[in-house]
Amino acid sequence: MQKPILYIVIPCYNEEQVLPITAPMFLDTLKSMISDEQISDESRIMFVNDGSKDKTWSTIQNLASDNPYFAGISLSRNRGHQNALLGGLMEAKEHADITISIDCDGQDDIHVMKEMVKQYHDGCEIVYGVRSKRDTDTFFKRFTARSYYKLLKSMGVDVVYDHADYRLVSSRVLREFSNFKEVNLFLRGMFPLVGFKSTSVYYERHERLAGKSHYPFSKSMALAFDGITSLSIKPIRIITGLGTIVSFLSFFMIIYIVIGYFLGNTTPGWASTLSAIGFFSGVQLISLGVIGEYVGKIYMETKARPRYIISEKTSNLPKSQEDKD
Ligand code: UDP
Ligand code: MG
Repeated sequence: MQKPILYIVIPCYNEEQVLPITAPMFLDTLKSMISDEQISDESRIMFVNDGSKDKTWSTIQNLASDNPYFAGISLSRNRGHQNALLGGLMEAKEHADITISIDCDGQDDIHVMKEMVKQYHDGCEIVYGVRSKRDTDTFFKRFTARSYYKLLKSMGVDVVYDHADYRLVSSRVLREFSNFKEVNLFLRGMFPLVGFKSTSVYYERHERLAGKSHYPFSKSMALAFDGITSLSIKPIRIITGLGTIVSFLSFFMIIYIVIGYFLGNTTPGWASTLSAIGFFSGVQLISLGVIGEYVGKIYMETKARPRYIISEKTSNLPKSQEDKD
């Protein structure tokens, strides 16, 4: 059996505190998979520096010069987790047969990588890492996450429950995936669209080993919103439905008013007028907002700007086709 080349792709943004702790852990796992003959000796741990402002890139460069199993690329500026991960995966597909994407903070259990690779050997091209429980989350986070997955499902978006961005993807899938040109990225919702045989493996998620989260509530909300509007046009349909219902209701209201007029009690009516105005303006504003969100998305997509720009690579990374040209 041919041993596949594995690239572990790890986006890093301002992670100088946690990298020195987790890098050796990744290395141990990689080496043990190599010695188990699961993967080729040409496998690498590839960090993607997402325009960090601290010493993250120099840490990565030092790791790469000390140990040939470490490599890295650096983006020209901070582009956010999803873009950084995409940049890493697109680079890795040039050198590897399989990739595993994982965060650099040690939250995801690296020991299930072996199980992921085993599933690849059994014929799966995508293996989703799924959290088996959410004990370490607050009640609020658990509740919002659950409701969000339900909402996504009801909008027709096919996502794997409790899976984030810890997954194995073969380079064949990545080559197909490179034809998805959109700039609004929600990778966990996009990979199921590619198809091919897939499965899930389960693990427990831990606390961050050091440093702090880059996903405050506002950023998580933005990603959640992108997830829906990038993959579903149902919200626009809901608005059409809402508009129909509201028109229907106002039709009855007009009848009520006309009857009132003939019965002679058209007195003031101030409150009902105002409440109707308030209600309708509310509905209109929400509708405009949702439509505006999609118009904004179209605007961003038509510009088709590059999703990431690689400014540097560590020298131990094999030359890709583009570099040779
Ligand atoms: N990250 C990134 N660019 C960013 C923000 C985060 O590459 O702009 C990386 C970060 O270094 C980490 C991963 O994305 O490896 C997940 O981020 P974090 O752990 O802060 O998020 P959380 O686990 O709290 O959702
Ligand atoms: Mg984290």
